[in-house]
Amino acid sequence: MLVHICCAVDSHYFLEKIKEEYPDEKLVGYFYDPNIHPYSEYRLRYLDVEYSCKKLNIPLLEGAYNLEEWLKKVKGMEHLPEKGDRCTVCYDDRLENSVIKAKELGCDKFTTTLLISPKKSQEKLAIIGDNLTKKYGVDFIFKDYRSGNGGEIQGLRVKENSLYRQNYCGCLFGLTAQRENQKKIMDEMFNPISNQILPESIEQRLELYKKRNRFEDEKKEYKIIKQKFLNYRLMSGKVIVNKEVIPSYVFAYSVINNKGFTNGKVELEKDEIFYFNRDEIKFITLKTFNNFAKTNYKSTKELIYKPLDFCEEVKLRYEILKNPYDLSALIVVDEVIDSKYEIFINSVTYEDIKEEIV
Ligand code: SF4
Repeated sequence: MLVHICCAVDSHYFLEKIKEEYPDEKLVGYFYDPNIHPYSEYRLRYLDVEYSCKKLNIPLLEGAYNLEEWLKKVKGMEHLPEKGDRCTVCYDDRLENSVIKAKELGCDKFTTTLLISPKKSQEKLAIIGDNLTKKYGVDFIFKDYRSGNGGEIQGLRVKENSLYRQNYCGCLFGLTAQRENQKKIMDEMFNPISNQILPESIEQRLELYKKRNRFEDEKKEYKIIKQKFLNYRLMSGKVIVNKEVIPSYVFAYSVINNKGFTNGKVELEKDEIFYFNRDEIKFITLKTFNNFAKTNYKSTKELIYKPLDFCEEVKLRYEILKNPYDLSALIVVDEVIDSKYEIFINSVTYEDIKEEIV
């Protein structure tokens, strides 16, 4: 039997039950989910499914990441709510690809872990599955493992196995609506040009779950805990001097004002920190940065593309400004000159929760 898998949260308990109910069946997991955006999130969910299947001793195959085809299929339905027609097309795509794979492998049955997901319509999945059975001659196995106390046991399995609990269904469109509703920034969908791993980014979660896998392999004791913290994202930053944009590096947790723009001059220099006459902005030169950080950057541009690790940067900020809860803008430039500066910083700070491994 081929079991289409959407994520480990849904598959772990579902596969346990299928194994129990079909003890003589040879099971094969199939991860085909081009609906998951961005690609880093897709990799993270795959990593988790791989870990869960390994624990359950079930072989796993990965389907193609047919993102473009999936986007073409849901075109015009981007703004429809979850459980609407876009989701029907999404189930259709995933199940049809799975039944084709099942046939190719010579399986006579197929099913999907989407059936246990509380936000998915079991009725729609049953209709799609039965239609595919008629079309391809592979039996669709409908199982309702979520009724009764199924949801509760599923939650327990997630905890016991430290699985990754994602907080959105998968696609960009569902996520957009969800974040708009929550009035929350959609930080999953962007990456800094520096490739710095930001707090509570998908890349950081990916690192964390790789670490979990290592701890599991080494049979080390660990626990995944949650922490509340002040998160930060820099959307854009620019410094203009004499009508020219100069290379500048904006430190994490730099905030200026609601307009995201200010202009003025440097009015004081003390201990290698240059104080601006507006909006509490401070400049340091690259030389000062290198002295504090014990680094050897040749230019500010190099720093932009190859910055320090995020935590190192925050520690350095504290070392320079001597204030752990300071949010003033701290900007690194090659040199500070006596001229008019125009500064654009578009950034957000927000309360957030992140996972840590202890
Ligand atoms: S909300 Fe979920 S089920 Fe619906 S289209 Fe997006 S990824 Fe697919």
